[in-house]
Amino acid sequence: MSLSIKTPLLESLPLGRSIGTKVWMKMEAMQPSGSFKIRGVGFACEQHHVRGAQRFISSSGGNAGLAVAYAGRRLGVPVIVVVPETTTQRARSLLALEGAEVIVHGKTWFEANELARSMQTAADAFIHPFDDPLLWTGHASMIDEVVADGIRPDAVVLSVGGGGLLAGVDEGLRRNDLGDVPVYAVETEGTASLNASISAGQLVEIPAVSGVATSLAAKQVCRRAYELSKERPVIPVQVTDREAVDACSAFLNDHRILVEPACGASLAALYGNKMPLNKVSNVLVIVCGGSTATVESLLSFQG
Ligand SMILES: *Cc1c(COP(=O)(O)O)cnc(C)c1O
Repeated sequence: MSLSIKTPLLESLPLGRSIGTKVWMKMEAMQPSGSFKIRGVGFACEQHHVRGAQRFISSSGGNAGLAVAYAGRRLGVPVIVVVPETTTQRARSLLALEGAEVIVHGKTWFEANELARSMQTAADAFIHPFDDPLLWTGHASMIDEVVADGIRPDAVVLSVGGGGLLAGVDEGLRRNDLGDVPVYAVETEGTASLNASISAGQLVEIPAVSGVATSLAAKQVCRRAYELSKERPVIPVQVTDREAVDACSAFLNDHRILVEPACGASLAALYGNKMPLNKVSNVLVIVCGGSTATVESLLSFQG
């Protein structure tokens, strides 16, 4: 059994138009939990379940927490998600709808995470949102599906938060003999932690994260994401919050699917033609999805 589904691979004429090449969209927005996260989280939860975990614990009020809640419901394993007071009512109710127990604790994610960690017993599995090899192996399946659908991309565009998606896509590309394909790693200006580490030549933490792309808000990427950027071509790209939000609106009109600004960042890099893709024939963009944005929140964005 797999908790994630095989998603459609669709060509986007609107996204390809501005850059004059074929653009293929891997539609992870259609995963049951609303984002690609269920691939890795689902894989990790299944492994922990087989090993006898009695409970799953998460400290993510975003798509990772939602994926854990979904996995727990499907596997019949109770889920606790500890989130800070800043977590929106919408996120809390989405988690509750999946049947997770939501505990609100502390002013910041740091405090919520501390409590979540302290609750963990030997019978529990703590599910990290991005820094776990099990997650990366689960995420890698999206590339297997692309190749099975007959497309061998010669460039990949994806969004980077903590770098779990990047690490998983890298693993998937390598195991399909696509280890040399360049990956354009898109961040918003307020969340550009991978860019900071690549520029510094070492893994660094940015002093603060800000802006609309909350699912990209990791001050530091995982070590694997930084290290693989030295092993294969990884090209950091940055977009503004405004560009990310506008790309969500354009995408909603073009493809009738609502995604978060975290995903809009990758779409903005294509709509805005921010990468040298004129010699490329098949661009793959991971439409990573996201459940926390609403049409109202996109329309009300100021900036
Ligand atoms: C988690 C997430 C990301 C970033 O993934 P990382 O593995 O943290 O780099 C991007 N977009 C969406 C919608 C997400 O949920």
